[in-house]
Amino acid sequence: MTRIVLAPCSPFSVSEDLLRETAVLARDKKVMLHTHLCETLDEERYTLERFGKRPVEWMEDLGWLGDDVWFAHAIHVDDEEIAKFAQNGCGAAHCPCSNMRLASGIAPVKKYLHAGVKVGLGVDGSASNDSSNMLLEARQAMLLSRLQMGLLPPEGPRKHFLLSQSHPLRSNEWMTARQALELATLGGAAVLGRNDIGALEAGKCADFFTLDLNTINYAGALHDPVAAVLFCAPQNARHTVINGRTVVEDGRITTLDMEPVIAAHNRHSRELAG
Ligand SMILES: [Zn+2]
Repeated sequence: MTRIVLAPCSPFSVSEDLLRETAVLARDKKVMLHTHLCETLDEERYTLERFGKRPVEWMEDLGWLGDDVWFAHAIHVDDEEIAKFAQNGCGAAHCPCSNMRLASGIAPVKKYLHAGVKVGLGVDGSASNDSSNMLLEARQAMLLSRLQMGLLPPEGPRKHFLLSQSHPLRSNEWMTARQALELATLGGAAVLGRNDIGALEAGKCADFFTLDLNTINYAGALHDPVAAVLFCAPQNARHTVINGRTVVEDGRITTLDMEPVIAAHNRHSRELAG
């Protein structure tokens, strides 16, 4: 159940040499490579000033493009760079909550998928996400992509969107609840190079969770249960099964005593914040 990936934090927190050597080591050990790239315009200015290259070209020269590589964020890319990701098989981990919290920008998810780039979802880290809840992330990905559609330059039937109070998106438009769910499941599996997870199918890993839809949280939305799960506020799992083992049963974690863990966590975070 443990997989090793080599993942230096970000371009501006490590040396060029470390990035180059990391890629060599990963290929030697046949493990994947991951970092956070094209997250902010500051990062783009940094690599341009320091190395005379945009982040993607810079990483390419360091051996960091390939189907064994995925990048978190991948927001500030142009069409050529999107094509480069597609040609090389690089994946993107879309982190909408973090990107909104830090005002980093909006990743071009629709363009990625159109170009054939693998896209999954990520929560980034505790410094930029206060929940690390994948269901919430899927919901934010769906809502943010709708906002992004609305902010596109006016064209065709969308011309009056920004002025209109009427609902701009029809249910068959980008991004639907099912597309968001696909990013969160099959999308993530593809990014990680896994064909044994991402779907409920015979032969795949028994990794899944269940939700209780017969609660007030989903009341009124059950004519489309998939849409309900994505549109309504994310709820805690009723049961969670990991690799065939039940770790949450009727909403309670079975593998540890939660109360002291929460108390310790709060104690440490208070110390840190203080
Ligand atoms: Zn990040």
